[in-house]
Order: sequence, then C-alpha cells, then structure tokens
Amino acid sequence: MNFIASRASAIERLDQFIKNNLSDYSKQRNFDYGPNKRSNVSCLSPYITHGVINELELIDKSLKKFSFIKNEKFIQEVLWRTYWKGWLELRPNVWIDFLSELKKIGEEYKQKKEYLDAIDGNTNIECFNDWVNELKNFNYLHNHTRMWFASIWIFTLKLPWQLGAEFFMKHLYDGDAASNTLGWRWVAGIQTQGKHYLASEWNINKFTDNRYNNIKLNEKALPIVTGKTHIALDKNFNNPKNLEEKNLVIFDNSLSFEFSDFKSQKFKKIYLVSNTNKNRNIQISENSLNFKNTLIQDQKRRLNENSIESDIIDISEVKTIKNSYFLYPCVGENLDFLNSVGINNLEFLYRNLDQNAWKYCNKGFFNFKKYIPKLISEYF
Ligand SMILES: Cc1cc2nc3c(=O)[nH]c(=O)nc-3n(C[C@H](O)[C@H](O)[C@H](O)COP(=O)(O)OP(=O)(O)OC[C@H]3O[C@@H](n4cnc5c(N)ncnc54)[C@H](O)[C@@H]3O)c2cc1C
Repeated sequence: MNFIASRASAIERLDQFIKNNLSDYSKQRNFDYGPNKRSNVSCLSPYITHGVINELELIDKSLKKFSFIKNEKFIQEVLWRTYWKGWLELRPNVWIDFLSELKKIGEEYKQKKEYLDAIDGNTNIECFNDWVNELKNFNYLHNHTRMWFASIWIFTLKLPWQLGAEFFMKHLYDGDAASNTLGWRWVAGIQTQGKHYLASEWNINKFTDNRYNNIKLNEKALPIVTGKTHIALDKNFNNPKNLEEKNLVIFDNSLSFEFSDFKSQKFKKIYLVSNTNKNRNIQISENSLNFKNTLIQDQKRRLNENSIESDIIDISEVKTIKNSYFLYPCVGENLDFLNSVGINNLEFLYRNLDQNAWKYCNKGFFNFKKYIPKLISEYF
C-alpha cells in the first residue's frame, strides 16, 4: 500500500476501485486482510481529506456503475465524513475541549511506561503492536482496525482516548479533526453517550481472516462517562451574494480548485497555504507533512497548467494577503491558527455540498441518513 501524493493517483485508484471492487463493497468492507491486500475498500480517504477528490466525484462515478440501491452502503460511508464534519461545525467546542484536555493529559502521560509501550507497539497484544507499526509505516489503517485499535487503547490498555486520537492525527494521511475526534469519542461511548464499541477476540479473528491467536482483551468494560453535553449552534454557512474579482486563499483541505464550485469564478491570484508543525497543536509526522506539501505542489502544478497564477505561502503569511476570499478550512488546526493570531471576519466560501448537508447534522447519523436520497438528488 503506497499513497502517491497526486490527483492523478487518486483518480486512478478511484477508477480501479469502481471498476473492480465496488460491487462487493458492502459484503467485503469490514474485512482487514492486511496492508498488502486492501482492494476491498477504496483507500481514498487520504485524498478526500485534502479535497484532492471530493465526495460528489465518488458518488457520481459509483452511480454511473450501479443504481442507488446497489450503491447505498458505499454512498452512506462516503457521506459519514460529510456528516461528521457538519456535526463538529455545529459544535466546535468539542474540538476545543479535546485540545485542552489533551494538553493536560499529555503532560501527565508523556513519561508513563504504559503510554510509551503503546505508541512503540510494545504491548502484549500482538495485533495491536502490528497496527501501531502499520500506522507508522503506511499512514493508514482500515476502518474496522481503527475501531479495534481505539477500543483496545481505551478499554484494555486503559489509556485516555485523547492520547489515542492525537497518535492517529500524527500519523494518518487522512487525519481529520472531525472524523478522528468523533470516531474516538464514538468508540469511548461519549459521542452516543453510554454506547461504546467493545472489540472482541471472535470479531477480530473473523474479520482479520484468523491472522491472530489468543487475543486477550477486556470485553466487559463500561463506557467512558463524561458529564458534558454540547448543544448544536444555530450557524449559517452562507456565501457572499456576488463574488468580486479578489484573491483566493486555499488550505490543505481543498486541493482541487479546478473541480470546485468556484472553478468558473475569476480570481486575481490563488494562494495555497502550507502549515508546518510550528503552528499546530498536534505535531504531525514527517511523512504526513511531506504528503500534505506534495499535494499542495501538485495543485500548484495543475493551476500552472491551466494558466492560473498561484503561490504557495506559509500560514503565518496569511495575514499579509489582502482583498481575498478563503475556501473554508473547517474546524481544525488551520482555522485555530487564524483565530489565534486574531485573523477574524474573513470572507469564507463554503462548498455547496456542505451548505446542503450540514443543516441535517444537528442530530444523529440515523436521522441524517434519511435525507441522503434528497441530498444527492440535487446533484444527480
Ligand atoms: C477511531 C477512528 C478514527 C478515524 N479517523 C479518521 C480520520 O482521521 N480521517 C478520516 O477520513 N476517517 C477517519 N475514520 C473513518 C474511517 O476509518 C476512514 O475514513 C476509512 O477507514 C478510510 O478508508 P477508505 O478510504 O478505504 O474507506 P472506504 O470504506 O473506501 O470509504 C470511502 C470514503 O468514505 C468515508 N468514510 C468511510 N467510512 C467512514 C467513517 N466511518 N467515518 C467517516 N468517513 C468515512 C471516507 O472519506 C472514505 O475514504 C476514523 C474512524 C475511527 C473509528
């Protein structure tokens, strides 16, 4: 498994997946056959997270191959991501609270043997150790494995979920404030309060094709309890009515301008923003930084090919760029940085899909799911 940081590789992977593996996706998606046998899932999340390809491109190609009914599971999974993003946009304090808890807990745990053993893949649970190494080497884990990993971390190794979420964000190429934080909260039993996800030996055996034996886990743990609830804010995500000819600033979540809602709009210049570890709360791995930077360069190259003037700048230079619109970076590190240096009242541009979908994110996913046919009927 090797992720080449370019849109061309993303499209090739998407096309191969649609052609050869989409038909079996709902039957096969829960199996983790190991890093060298990943064709049962798309492995597109590193690209989708960076906006190199978008949810609608996936759904469009899938619907050209099969009907909505046959594709329903795949489309639902693709839109889980959109749902988590919207859920967090309406409750940004969940992210803020996570970061401040992480700061405290990180100090307390940074020298603790049980934590260091876990992140070194040095526990007495063989599958967990393998996944730690896989995460560090391939910067990706299968969805089911992320669930087992998080469950073992929280309920068997008894480590704080916040440190596990940080460890994922550090190494995953698809590290995303919404999907990751809410995924960990969901496993812990905080996202849907009182309902946690418990990994079990039989389930791991079955879905790893019996690659591991004698997995001793705490299969009776109770959910993590927190007294805190977060009420959904009443936020709107409106774009300015008539766009003027200004500059456009793009962050590392929207790296496909030529396929965006704003592709036909004339901008003076496009600024592509790169963010180093200096301005992040969570320090990401060298691999992850390189992956992001290569994707940014790939976007610049494609802008050049389309004769669109562009420049790559560091996030600390954003405040010097005047007269600009900003493709919305979403709740996460980039938005945090802008807020922390007092760059407020920016003119954000929101994606049409997010404007349409996020209004259904005030409740649970099962409620959101009801609106999926209506949501996609606006595009196909
Ligand atoms: C603890 C935990 C942490 C996670 N952290 C992240 C993260 O940081 N970034 C991230 O993109 N996903 C995260 N996920 C969700 C999911 O594991 C990945 O999106 C998925 O494994 C990506 O692999 P794929 O592209 O082969 O997925 P496929 O099964 O091929 O699905 C296609 C696309 O649908 C979306 N998708 C599928 N399943 C989910 C899901 N459960 N939640 C949200 N989106 C989904 C992804 O964009 C994915 O690329 C996390 C899940 C858990 C349980």
